[in-house]
Amino acid sequence: MIKPTANFANVQTANSSKEFLVIENVTKAYPKPNGDETVVLDDINLTIGENEYISIIGHSGCGKSTLLKIVSGLERATSGSIWLDGREIRKPGAERMMVFQHYSLLPWLTVRENIRLAVDEVLDHLTPADKRRVVDEHIAMVNLNAASEKYPDELSGGMKQRVGIARALAIRPKMLLMDEPFGALDALTRGRLQRQVLDIWENQRQAVMMVTHDVDEALYMSDRIIMMTNGPHAKIGEILEVPFSHPRNLKELRELPIYYELRNHALNFLDRNFSQDE
Ligand code: ADP
Repeated sequence: MIKPTANFANVQTANSSKEFLVIENVTKAYPKPNGDETVVLDDINLTIGENEYISIIGHSGCGKSTLLKIVSGLERATSGSIWLDGREIRKPGAERMMVFQHYSLLPWLTVRENIRLAVDEVLDHLTPADKRRVVDEHIAMVNLNAASEKYPDELSGGMKQRVGIARALAIRPKMLLMDEPFGALDALTRGRLQRQVLDIWENQRQAVMMVTHDVDEALYMSDRIIMMTNGPHAKIGEILEVPFSHPRNLKELRELPIYYELRNHALNFLDRNFSQDE
């Protein structure tokens, strides 16, 4: 049995091996047409370890994507600061790669060319042969060898997302940011791709921040689940430690009573924070 009070209550002190990503007092407000403002995120504090996989979960509109965009540098916090490996984040950078739900591949480039473009831009110090090797390795990593000369239009959703993931990983970011990366996929493809991403992560641990709606996905993949309260003024409500070691086996996890205790705990949190307009 787990003891909920010991495991679920700790919001401020993250169980990270190191303070790799530090989110400090981050607040984000958007202006309203009438001159007022909406405070979306309210004083978010979180640290993430160098090899840690965390999920952010919460109802639609609570500010999960906004938080991820602030970490990516695509949005600026209204106040507070974010530090990665000791350096303050002020703009997008190749050390933080984002994977979006809707793939964002360039349609006029093949799989190989989409990945190569990112490698050319970021790893321009490599020789052409080394660049080719990096691209080939990452195409193989996501099992896309047979599709490497295809265009995005010729690929299934799962394949497109694998290209997005390969492209993000090819440039060796310090941190991977994923915004509902499996959200647009059918259940079977989603399960397969979750496994593939977890295989890659279990081999080359790095900091991952993933936004998801799916409690099972968060439990299967992450080390901690950051549960957000509803907006406006969304905060971190609870942090759920996921006590399963890696590599994980979904079938085995589903045989553990603790899996269902954690799952129910997360679902109950979401129920308590049920938004009126959903
Ligand atoms: P989530 O990812 O949890 O679904 P978002 O981060 O996308 O939520 O959005 C959080 C809130 O911020 C929503 O109410 C949304 O309407 C608002 N919001 C997001 N981007 C902007 C923007 N550029 N201007 C104004 N409001 C925004």
